[in-house]
Amino acid sequence: MESGGYPVCVTCGIQFAGPEPPPQCPVCEDDRQYVRWSGQQWTTLERLREDHRNEIQEEEPGLHSIRTEPSFGIGQRAFLVQTPAGNLLWDCITLLDDATREAILDLGGVRAIAISHPHYYSTK
Ligand SMILES: [Zn+2]
Repeated sequence: MESGGYPVCVTCGIQFAGPEPPPQCPVCEDDRQYVRWSGQQWTTLERLREDHRNEIQEEEPGLHSIRTEPSFGIGQRAFLVQTPAGNLLWDCITLLDDATREAILDLGGVRAIAISHPHYYSTK
């Protein structure tokens, strides 16, 4: 199964190995997060690609932000930091699509990824 069909938690945006979702989302079950009042809900990367897209914005020379519209999960945003030694992706977001992949390649690709906390493990 292609990972685009793996379950993604709607509340935190983390993708899990598929094809079936875990009984609960361990990120949302943690005391520092929450399960929404309507209960645990799942989507997939394939479904996200149907009605969401990423906005890539130059914040300043050498620094671009990447966020999903409409907002998804906790509104995660990533930063692409361009350096002479290669680009650093600071955090990840759930939605990865062809347009984003091409835009990042046009900016020089990604040499390394840093993840600040569990909400940014997102998708593969
Ligand atoms: Zn979750």
